[in-house]
Amino acid sequence: MTFQRKLQILHQLYDIYASYTDSLDLACRQHCCRCCTRNVTLTSLEATSLLDSLDPADKNRLLRRVQSNTSLERYQPRITTNEMAERCARGEALPEESCDPDWGPCPLLENRNCPIYPLRPFACRCLISRSSCEKTGYADVDEFSLTVNSIFLQVIEHLDRGGCTGNFTDILLYLSKLEHMRAYRQGRLECNAGNLVRNRSLKILMIPPGHRTTAAPILQRLQRLGFT
Ligand code: SF4
Ligand code: SF4
Repeated sequence: MTFQRKLQILHQLYDIYASYTDSLDLACRQHCCRCCTRNVTLTSLEATSLLDSLDPADKNRLLRRVQSNTSLERYQPRITTNEMAERCARGEALPEESCDPDWGPCPLLENRNCPIYPLRPFACRCLISRSSCEKTGYADVDEFSLTVNSIFLQVIEHLDRGGCTGNFTDILLYLSKLEHMRAYRQGRLECNAGNLVRNRSLKILMIPPGHRTTAAPILQRLQRLGFT
């Protein structure tokens, strides 16, 4: 599959997810930003899509903001969603990982505004809540939406198999280096060197038995994209 086709499918996945969230009664609005923490993760395909979409001045501004935050603590995943699914299926323990929203806001957030909102990665899109987190202090997400989120995370990782997943800060800075971007487009990106983890293909979808019937129409739409 060509790189352009992968990018096209990524945006189709975003659109399918948006049609799901549009059907929900959510408190989420642009400029509502309690969920915008420095712990957001994304795939190398999403980072490339973002970097490719910005003009040079905006890209430099974004990278400067991210660079100024590199000494701060942030969530750096040790395994991907697809590896987690495989380990769970085998009954294996998951690695202990720390992720604390109090580590601080996303480095891009400025005056409650996300400067890349239309281009934001899936991990930002799937932070949803039925009530305002700013009032309650937590996200109120129904169980089925958690299942839908994990389906999309697994499928987006599968689309970028051969690429990497990592924290927003780490992956953007890593891929901003020309030699790394070239290596990624040639399918030979080193993940460890950038504090990233290797993406895996999708082997087992994490769908609880009680959600399988309701999830079927979404799965059919994903299958029609023809890459799973
Ligand atoms: S998840 Fe919470 S903080 Fe984030 S947009 Fe939705 S309501 Fe706002
Ligand atoms: S990229 Fe934008 S939407 Fe995502 S966490 Fe940062 S400010 Fe929020």
